[in-house]
Amino acid sequence: MEKRELVIIGAGPAGLTAAIYGRRAGLDVLLLEKGTPGGQINITDEIENWPGVKHASGQELGNMFREHAEKFNTEFRDTDVRKVEIREGRKIVVTEKEEIEAEAVIICTGAYFRRLGCEGEAEHIGQGVSYCAVCDGAFFEDETIAVIGGGNTAVEEGTYLTKFAKKVYIVHRRDEFRADRAAIEHALSNPKIEPVWNSVVERIEGDGMVENIVLKNVKTGEVSNLAVAGVFMFVGQAPYDEPVRGLVKAAKGGWIITNEDMETSVEGIYAAGDVREKGLRQVITAAGDGAVAAMSAVSYINEQVHLRSLLMEPEHVVAFFYSSIDGNQVQLSEKALKEAETMGKKLTLVDGYRNGKMVEKLELPGMPTLVELRKGEVVRTESPATLEKVLSFLK
Ligand SMILES: Cc1cc2nc3c(=O)[nH]c(=O)nc-3n(C[C@H](O)[C@H](O)[C@H](O)COP(=O)(O)OP(=O)(O)OC[C@H]3O[C@@H](n4cnc5c(N)ncnc54)[C@H](O)[C@@H]3O)c2cc1C
Repeated sequence: MEKRELVIIGAGPAGLTAAIYGRRAGLDVLLLEKGTPGGQINITDEIENWPGVKHASGQELGNMFREHAEKFNTEFRDTDVRKVEIREGRKIVVTEKEEIEAEAVIICTGAYFRRLGCEGEAEHIGQGVSYCAVCDGAFFEDETIAVIGGGNTAVEEGTYLTKFAKKVYIVHRRDEFRADRAAIEHALSNPKIEPVWNSVVERIEGDGMVENIVLKNVKTGEVSNLAVAGVFMFVGQAPYDEPVRGLVKAAKGGWIITNEDMETSVEGIYAAGDVREKGLRQVITAAGDGAVAAMSAVSYINEQVHLRSLLMEPEHVVAFFYSSIDGNQVQLSEKALKEAETMGKKLTLVDGYRNGKMVEKLELPGMPTLVELRKGEVVRTESPATLEKVLSFLK
């Protein structure tokens, strides 16, 4: 089976940034992408919030990210990843074509906005139909727009859009919103917001840009027109979490839970970008996550590879785990090493403070701890308070 150091799934802003950081740190990086590198931004014509680039189309920015990753010789492979599995402690990435073993995996598969599915929606994406208020709100300065939905996102983003638009209709299929009371009160007290109850969008119209939406009242059946320059759909967003569904811990809706180092609940598997549980899903936050995830993977791989050859592979090892931030333990470790040499015994020193994962893996009680391993299996441990205790362990 093919073996790689770092496998990244998804070449959007998160995955491409992770690849740049991984390659610059000297890792062997394989980037798997089922579509076009660049990710979701490929479908937008306007990006105005990536620092340093005042304006670019999504494709232009995506191409720049891809070229940057290529400059550092990232290997790209066009393939659909079906799942990630743990087999006998090894991480296996299963694609439509093959299986690849990885030291570490970063999930950067992104998310998608649920479409409403009405006539005229698909052809007006980027032409007045939007799924992201932060991304596109500023393009509707002094315009009249419609927000579709009735949950928290619709109500809160509708309020946010009043910063730009002169009028915001919130079109909802029921006669009350499903959002939190505070969000509803905030929205309804805003003079720029007008709810349109019991209504669904039948059609979005406009020659090029959006000009009108055709609404149907679900109670009366009455059909009406609403002249708007933009339609913001907030009918849900979902992660592309299929490859790790059931493997890593996720929040409601499948959003992958990580800590601030982008570690998931499974050691050596990281998640970055829109696929993870977080507040702001944007290019810049995806790129930031990708950088952090890659650097976490670099430390993990270095630690794993180094410590595996030091501790797990030899026939017999006696190791002394100490904490490098405790002066007494550092002194004890140095004395122990010297005495071991005099006795003709081999003692391996490991900084347990910097290699906490190995301390956890070996289930050591804390530090300092002496541990005897045979073929990677712990035979005995002791927490020595004095040099004499260390020496008696070595005998
Ligand atoms: C219309 C639109 C406009 C937007 N405008 C802006 C904006 O102006 N500014 C801004 O900051 N953000 C904007 N965003 C949001 C931004 O695009 C996302 O936050 C960002 O792309 C997330 O990056 P990501 O790398 O996490 O995921 P994505 O960009 O979604 O990339 C994920 C990649 O993973 C691939 N993938 C998924 N599953 C698999 C699999 N199983 N196997 C292999 N590959 C897989 C996908 O094909 C995709 O290329 C916009 C989004 C949209 C849809």
